[in-house]
Amino acid sequence: MRRVDRARFVPPESHDQAYDNIPLSIGYGQTISQPLVVGLMTQALQAQPSDRVLEVGTGSGYHTAILAELAAEVISIERHARLSERARLLLEDLGYRNVRLFVGSGSGGWPVAAPYDRILVTAGSPRIPVRLLASLAKNGRLVVPVGTRQEQQLVLLEKGPHGVSERSLGPVRFVPLIGEGAWNDQGD
Ligand code: SAM
Repeated sequence: MRRVDRARFVPPESHDQAYDNIPLSIGYGQTISQPLVVGLMTQALQAQPSDRVLEVGTGSGYHTAILAELAAEVISIERHARLSERARLLLEDLGYRNVRLFVGSGSGGWPVAAPYDRILVTAGSPRIPVRLLASLAKNGRLVVPVGTRQEQQLVLLEKGPHGVSERSLGPVRFVPLIGEGAWNDQGD
């Protein structure tokens, strides 16, 4: 996280708050997550240098950059084309070559490079996204906020040799995951 300057990912009007431990608006009703939560999710994911990671919810691209520092390849999906384009230009400018960004909904998975060693969902889902779980590789880890539109539990799922284990990592508050198997876009 020390290698990725959060100030590059926040809008100019929020620069003075870039290093505060708070989420910040990035436009389109979306947020760049609180650094503490980014750290917690990244720690739980335990991405390895040979891993291919799927991120659902590119947002500003901040967490994408952190994952790109740790893993072999990051595939990141964002439903807002303008956010994805802004993140793509910035990540290119910062020199990340192991990132592929796509526009669309990742709530039902993203088959282009499945299975994934690690999957990170950066928006709140009403339930454990079973199709994402299906595209998780053996010994893979999936981190996802699960709960209501207002508040969720951060859940870590691990696909071990004897099935899937589930662990709750504490309460979080994310914008909703919109799409198939998740929330509709009313009020988004
Ligand atoms: N990790 C991001 C960052 O560092 O800036 C913050 C992500 S923000 C909290 C959640 C993002 O998920 C939003 O940009 C939102 O548009 C996106 N999103 C919501 N539902 C989605 C879906 N089904 N597929 C892809 N992106 C989605």
